[in-house]
Amino acid sequence: MRKVAIYGKGGIGKSTTTQNTVAGLVEIGRKVMVVGCDPKADSTRLLLGGLAQKSVLDTLREEGEDVELEDIRKLGYGGTWCVESGGPEPGVGCAGRGIITSINMLESLGAYEESEELDYAFYDVLGDVVCGGFAMPIRDGKAEEIYIVVSGEMMAMYAANNISKGIVKFAQSGNVRLGGLICNSRNVDNEKEMIEKFAEKLGTRMIYFVPRDNDVQRAEINRQTVIEWNSDVPQAKEYRGLAKAIDENEKFVVPTPMEIEELEKLLMDFGLMA
Ligand code: ADP
Ligand code: MG
Repeated sequence: MRKVAIYGKGGIGKSTTTQNTVAGLVEIGRKVMVVGCDPKADSTRLLLGGLAQKSVLDTLREEGEDVELEDIRKLGYGGTWCVESGGPEPGVGCAGRGIITSINMLESLGAYEESEELDYAFYDVLGDVVCGGFAMPIRDGKAEEIYIVVSGEMMAMYAANNISKGIVKFAQSGNVRLGGLICNSRNVDNEKEMIEKFAEKLGTRMIYFVPRDNDVQRAEINRQTVIEWNSDVPQAKEYRGLAKAIDENEKFVVPTPMEIEELEKLLMDFGLMA
């Protein structure tokens, strides 16, 4: 089983990209579990056809320790298993702890080792790796393969660079590696070239360029991935392309984060290109 974590700045498109890519993996016969690691608990909405009724933490709060696998995971599109770790009540406690609790719970209930073999577990993790809790999936080898969703916007690139620093830190003690950057386009000038260059500087590659397309919203309003909503539209093909790129990926690295000055120069060089 490949253990994949998707990181990136908030709002960059982690949950959308993860689920649409998973739909592409389902099409080529892969069995996938998606674990949402965001207190918003919206990582599986497109696969489940609506928000998950209850997160793992909700279930634990309401039913105590006597939890069964069926209480915390739901079957979604194409036979994907969907889990939302959830979060503490707003303003109380550490959100990252929900992730730890959920993964431990899934492990102890045997979610990773059943007869119908899983090909992938995807962790959709919010924000930066600044707080230790959100680094949990890559600490202790819960996730071994990281993809960073990024765009040509400065803050998205800053976040990607910070996440790379987190990966370097945890790569020393474990198996975690960076599998590549996924450029989720914001239609910034020279975006593709800039992210390719950025990836090169980080010692990795841009594994795929996902165009910005309103069909993503059209599918989203119908609570579906693009592939399920309309498998013939151009964006469906893009997510198939990304799924294939991940499925065939063999290049995993310990990244080489950039100095801030160097990163800013990169942004300037490409931003000022004619
Ligand atoms: P994150 O999980 O990183 O916080 P989301 O996946 O929730 O971000 O994405 C935020 C919004 O961006 C979504 O509501 C989605 O409609 C939109 N979005 C993401 N990717 C694309 C894309 N390629 N084209 C158009 N809209 C997109
Ligand atoms: Mg999200």
